[in-house]
Amino acid sequence: MGKIRVGFGFDVHQLKEQHPFVLGGVNLEHHSGAFGHSDADVLLHAICDALLGAANLRDIGHHFSNTDERWRGISSLVLLQHVMKLLREKGWEINNIDAMVCLEAPKINPHIPAMQANIAQAAGIDADDISIKATTNEKLGFIGREEGVVAYAVCLIEKA
Ligand SMILES: [Zn+2]
Repeated sequence: MGKIRVGFGFDVHQLKEQHPFVLGGVNLEHHSGAFGHSDADVLLHAICDALLGAANLRDIGHHFSNTDERWRGISSLVLLQHVMKLLREKGWEINNIDAMVCLEAPKINPHIPAMQANIAQAAGIDADDISIKATTNEKLGFIGREEGVVAYAVCLIEKA
């Protein structure tokens, strides 16, 4: 086996009423949605940060500044494609990703296969190498009050 590295990512976004909610590249039907400079896809951002961290390529804000007009409203799947280009330039490939989304509503379990397919296509990897899990926050704190959404991700990358 070649050299392997682990990476960790975290992200949080505010939820706003009547705002689109993009998660894992899927448009969720909901009364509120994640607010941010890009499409505010909290899951994709946590995954990108885990990948960048594993490859020691700084963080998502370093590559995609939230004051840069190029990234306003952009699909985070495009950001993931760019992150994968940076990783492959350093000779890294993804072994697997494991992610957790923390939100009170809506239920995302029915959308997980579509999210896995979106991420697999953007990253150029197998859908089976991407695990996405979801939990509520038991109505506690800002997640429980549906004021925000949080995602965590870990990944393993390897050099052939
Ligand atoms: Zn974000």
